[in-house]
Amino acid sequence: MCGVFGIRSPDRDVARIAYFGLFALQHRGQESAGIAVSDRGRITALREMGLVAQVFSEEKLRGLRGELAIGHTRYSTTGSTHWANAQPIVHNGRARTVALGHNGNLTNAAELREELAERGVRVHSTSDSEMIAALIAHDDAPLEEAVARTIAKLDGAFSCVALAENRLIAFRDPRGMRPLCLGRIGDDWVAASETCALDLVGADFVREVNRGEAVLIDGDGVTSLQAAPADGGGALCIFEFFYLARPDSRLAGVEVHSARVRMGERLAEESPVEADLVLPIPDSGTPAAIGFSRATGIPFSEGLIKNRYVGRTFIQPEQGLREQGIRLKFNPLAEVAGQRVVVIDDSIVHGNTTRQIVRMLFDAGASEVHVRISSPPVIGPCFYGIDLADEDELVAARRSIEAVRSYIGASSLHYLSLEGLTEATRRPESELCRACLTRDYPTRVPVEAAKLRFEPV
Ligand code: SF4
Repeated sequence: MCGVFGIRSPDRDVARIAYFGLFALQHRGQESAGIAVSDRGRITALREMGLVAQVFSEEKLRGLRGELAIGHTRYSTTGSTHWANAQPIVHNGRARTVALGHNGNLTNAAELREELAERGVRVHSTSDSEMIAALIAHDDAPLEEAVARTIAKLDGAFSCVALAENRLIAFRDPRGMRPLCLGRIGDDWVAASETCALDLVGADFVREVNRGEAVLIDGDGVTSLQAAPADGGGALCIFEFFYLARPDSRLAGVEVHSARVRMGERLAEESPVEADLVLPIPDSGTPAAIGFSRATGIPFSEGLIKNRYVGRTFIQPEQGLREQGIRLKFNPLAEVAGQRVVVIDDSIVHGNTTRQIVRMLFDAGASEVHVRISSPPVIGPCFYGIDLADEDELVAARRSIEAVRSYIGASSLHYLSLEGLTEATRRPESELCRACLTRDYPTRVPVEAAKLRFEPV
């Protein structure tokens, strides 16, 4: 879960535009943020732990001058939470200096690390992203060839933006597992994880970066390379559709909000219930709750109010307050008292949050709490950039649906079928990764898949 952004513009304040691009991508990672600029080939980067608005000030942005900029918001998958793993990563290599922002996760990082070590190349961070930068930076071939050769060596999920030799590079893995699109502001080019970032900076959507394609942008225009053959129909992450992407983004031509409303409508068809109110778990459950309410005629209610300012970096409360736990984030309205409520969320991963919300609604006087989930049970881990935790932490991995219902304490529980979810995305099954819902992985699964596999013991 990361967001990437890139821009080339000789006349605009590229760091400021990257800042706003990252602002639109904040939902993809709240752990760290960074921007790197290239000024006639000289790269300067600033990256810190925290939200985009916490990391950058006017003064810091003014210090980032150049014609090109890339930016990154991070949520860790491979590599732990500390500054060295914040991005963009800058790697000074034998052939060139490369700044890189990566969304995704490599499944052959251990092999790549060995290959780099054999060549005497040291990588300083524990994330797999620096290996991509290092492979390009130490390749003596011309930049296009170095990028193409690097892409051919990588396995797993990668949507990247990079700066090298005063060129902006955007590339995507052969399965297109994570989104990446191109846009234009006047004559200038922009790359971003999601179309919502293009909208915010006033760029028009041009197209998605193709699977296995590298796009190099400089003063002479755009060069496109099919660096690796596209793999079958692709494997765009279905989690992007129901959870990760912002609802105002378009993924593979599909508006995410509409897809989520369809998921809610289908959920209503598949698992109707007698109830008085439909409540979303905000904000992720909201579009599906709209769909559920429309399809059933049960009134939609805001029922649960979310505190939107609880970031990942907030100060941990003391024990007494921690027991209030979920109230840091949600508080129910009095109107739920005496009502039969249907709570809609996009997914259940660990089950703890859902369990606490169900308890909170009963405490607030709800007479029945029915839970409806707009995706199927999550039964396997993700190796491609979404931190779903290990299988033994996934509540549905080894439990029946009835056992999950009993664990969360709901009056009833239903999940959307895999078929219903897929149809709601309007993308064929052959173009999607659904592996955490089916355990049918599109790549070789890494042997040592633990998140912290490169951490010093
Ligand atoms: S395993 Fe799940 S979360 Fe990971 S890429 Fe596939 S669908 Fe997405």
